[in-house]
Amino acid sequence: MRIDKLPIRGGGFRFLPIMTQEEYRAERNSLNDTGLCLACGVEADGCEPDMRKGKCDACGAADVYGLEELMVMGLIRWEDE
Ligand SMILES: [Zn+2]
Repeated sequence: MRIDKLPIRGGGFRFLPIMTQEEYRAERNSLNDTGLCLACGVEADGCEPDMRKGKCDACGAADVYGLEELMVMGLIRWEDE
């Protein structure tokens, strides 16, 4: 998973995942339960796939989302294989 850093209105950044369908499947099949903090772009393990607004260990923001939830919300930018 690569992370895209997008400037947001009013300042600051938002971090969104970029991955291929293959990488998504591999992550979902792994036991890592990967999540992503949209506030700082740090990947977190041990997230429920449908986690929303989990607390980030790195920056403290309640902005950690599970991988499946990111997909459902349409926040993953799909890359070609
Ligand atoms: Zn964070």
